[in-house]
Amino acid sequence: MLPLETIAQREALLLAPYAMHTAASAGRRYPEPVHPYRGAFQRDRDRIVHSSAFRRLSHKTQVFTGDLGDYHRTRLTHTLEVASIARTLGRALRLNEDLIEALALAHDIGHPPFGHAGEDTLHECLHDAGGFSHNRQALRICELLETRYPEFPGLNLSVEVLSGQQSRAEKGSAGASPLLEAQVVDAADSVAYDAHDADDALQLGLVTLEELIEVPLWRSAADRIRRRFADLETEALRRAVVHELIDSQVSDLLTATSARLNKEVPATAEAVRALPTLVAPSPSLAAQKIELERFLYAKVYRHPMVLATRTRAQLCLREMFERFMAQPALLPENFAARAASAGLPRTIVDYLAGMTDRFALKEHRRLCGGDA
Ligand code: MG
Repeated sequence: MLPLETIAQREALLLAPYAMHTAASAGRRYPEPVHPYRGAFQRDRDRIVHSSAFRRLSHKTQVFTGDLGDYHRTRLTHTLEVASIARTLGRALRLNEDLIEALALAHDIGHPPFGHAGEDTLHECLHDAGGFSHNRQALRICELLETRYPEFPGLNLSVEVLSGQQSRAEKGSAGASPLLEAQVVDAADSVAYDAHDADDALQLGLVTLEELIEVPLWRSAADRIRRRFADLETEALRRAVVHELIDSQVSDLLTATSARLNKEVPATAEAVRALPTLVAPSPSLAAQKIELERFLYAKVYRHPMVLATRTRAQLCLREMFERFMAQPALLPENFAARAASAGLPRTIVDYLAGMTDRFALKEHRRLCGGDA
C-alpha cells in the first residue's frame, strides 16, 4: 500500500511550484477520512467516472445526433479527447494530472440531451426561474443531484474541482483566475472541438476538403502533411490533418504558455489566481482558431441537418416540460420529492437535463404520444 506521504513526495518531486499540490487542497464540504492510497483528486476523478451523469454522456449529442451514424463524437468521446489532450498539456507543464483529469471528465456532465439545442430549450423553460446553463448544471449534479453515497448529497468533490467548474460557469466575469489545471482543461476543450467538429463535418459530408482548405488553420496543417506525405488519398489526408491540427495546437499552447510562465514566474498555485490567463494559444493561432470557428459556425452548426435536430429537440423537451408542469405526479418519485425545495420548474429541468437523447425521445413518445 502506498502511504500518503508518497503522493506528497512524488508531487513535490514532479510538479512545478505553480501546480496545485494535493496536500494544499482546501478539502471537501463534508469532511471525510483520508483514503489510504488514493490522493484527493484521484478520488474525485474516480467519483466522476462512476457517476450516472458521466455514463449517460455516451448517448448524448456533441454536435451531431446518433441517428446520423456511429463515426462522429458523442459527448463522452469528446470528454475523453479533452481529458487526453489536457493530460498531455498538464504533464508537459508539470501540473497536477489527477486534478486535470477530474476537471476534464466533469466539464461536460451538465449537458442536457440534444447538445446546445437542448440547452437553449431548457433555458427558455426556466426563463422566469434563473435560466439553465450546462456549466452550472454540472455543479448541481456534483453537489446535489448524484445520489451515490449515503453519507452526503452529490459527489462531495474537492473544493478545487468545484471551483474550477465554477469558473467555467462564470467565464467572462471579473474575479480571480482559475488554477492552471482548470485553464489547461479549457484550452484542451477548444483544441478538441475545433479539430473534431471539422473532422466529423467532413466525414458526414456537411463540408468538403476544398472548402476547408480555404481556412488558414486547416490549410497550414494540410500543407505540412502534404510535404511529409505527397500523395495521400482523401480519407487518409483528412485523418492525418486532424492529428496535425491537434498536435500543432498543443505545441503552440505549450510554447506560448511556457513563455508566459517564464515571464510571470508564479511561486505557488495561489499566485496564479492573481495573474491573467496564462494557458492560451499564441495571438496568431488564436486568430486562426477564430476563423475556423466562424467557418464551422456558418457551415456546420447552422447546417440544415443540424438545425433539423434543433427543432426536434425543442419540440421534445418543451412538450415534456409542459406535460410535467401540468401533471407533476408523472415525475419519478425521487424528483417529485425534490420539487418542494427546488421548485417544480427547476426539478423538471433537472430530470429532463439528465436524460440521454434516446431516453428523451422514448419518454416523449410515452408522455406526449408525439413523434418528435
Ligand atoms: Mg467540452
